[in-house]
Amino acid sequence: MSQPFTLPPLPWADNALEPVISKRTIEFHYGKHHAAYVNNLNGLVAGTDMADMSLEQIVRAVKDDPAKKGVFNNAGQVWNHTFFWNSLAPQRTEPSKALADKIAESFGGMQQFEEQFIKAATAQFGSGWAWLIVNNGKLEIVTTANADTPMAQGKTCLLTVDVWEHAYYLDYQNRRPDFLKAVVGERLNWKFASENFEKA
Ligand code: MN
Repeated sequence: MSQPFTLPPLPWADNALEPVISKRTIEFHYGKHHAAYVNNLNGLVAGTDMADMSLEQIVRAVKDDPAKKGVFNNAGQVWNHTFFWNSLAPQRTEPSKALADKIAESFGGMQQFEEQFIKAATAQFGSGWAWLIVNNGKLEIVTTANADTPMAQGKTCLLTVDVWEHAYYLDYQNRRPDFLKAVVGERLNWKFASENFEKA
């Protein structure tokens, strides 16, 4: 069986996000959950015309095909998790001047952005993701359910936070808002978001 997709290395050490996200959470979230999505996807695309496609191509190709829901779910989750790890940083980071200006224009400022992002991410019912995206030249906060991703619709993603329970349950149990306050306040990778904004 071919194995076209591999689990990308983490951009930081597995304990680098402590105390906001524990090494133990990363061991399970990256080492078990993310790895399983990669393995599942490889099994699903092996021997099909999707084996030679990029992850983005697969997600966009199968997004409206009910018969390929399993492919969409696993491909989406592989992409979303890799994007999530890159959306996190061990140290506090700042957006570029261009992105900071756009955030001020769109939300009123960083503090207002953080409040609105946490509110939206908290309100996502069940499993899913909260995103900062560029849509038609404007910044938007959106949430997606399960494996769905704005990338499937061709939107430019700047950063994301995973709000599946497996993202926070070991460290915060049911307290999703506490997880979000800590991550949004201290661990978002604004350098990564700014690089994505430049490309938008
Ligand atoms: Mn996850």
